[in-house]
Amino acid sequence: MAKVDELQRMIAAAGNIVAFTGAGISTESGIPDFRSPGGIWTRYRPIEFGEFLASAEARRESWRRKFATQATLDKATPNAGHRALSRLVELGKMPAIITQNIDGLHQASGVPDDKVIELHGNTTYAVCLDCRRRHELGWVKEIFADNERLPECVACGGTIKTATISFGQAMPEAEMARAHAATLAADLFIVLGSSLVVYPAAGFPMLAKRNGARLVIVNREPTEQDELADLVINAEIGATMSRAVGVN
Ligand SMILES: [Zn+2]
Repeated sequence: MAKVDELQRMIAAAGNIVAFTGAGISTESGIPDFRSPGGIWTRYRPIEFGEFLASAEARRESWRRKFATQATLDKATPNAGHRALSRLVELGKMPAIITQNIDGLHQASGVPDDKVIELHGNTTYAVCLDCRRRHELGWVKEIFADNERLPECVACGGTIKTATISFGQAMPEAEMARAHAATLAADLFIVLGSSLVVYPAAGFPMLAKRNGARLVIVNREPTEQDELADLVINAEIGATMSRAVGVN
């Protein structure tokens, strides 16, 4: 509790807070951590980007997995942790949320699209890999339901993929640049629910700290970067942040 009070004081004193969120904030909304034991990435070998491009069967398997896990995602709603961050954005104290999550729950909690920097993309819609045109999943699902037919871009005939960054796919340059700039502008950087092992994303807390920001890590388990942090809270994110920000 004393630690949450300290976080509350740090938030009150800060002028530019950046949140960096990982799977831990979404597990509190019922979304499984795909990297955790028993998660889909430990049960199935991930489909790498090169394979997805090269093989129609890999593309079919990718859509099978996507639609098999869709119901869980559809049911998930933002939790108290998302709402606390949304409130800080609304108050003008949090100009950016950098996220490793692909579930769109920050936007669902009311944070404008332009305040959410998605380092690993978004799984709630699809894009054409050639012309980047957006396509909706319902449309893909209808096509795929016809004997696992693969969708093609309505504009250019290109390959359609969920708007996520796969293993082996380049990190999105614009988002990386925005995350870099937001990190350098922060005077308080709060990591929420990331074990900080996936690079280059996990480099941002270090960058913030080196640049003079105070660093807070809220995560159920210890992380690789706890030693760098000014404050570490090993507890549930929703309960911690709703108390620190004063929202339910
Ligand atoms: Zn296209």
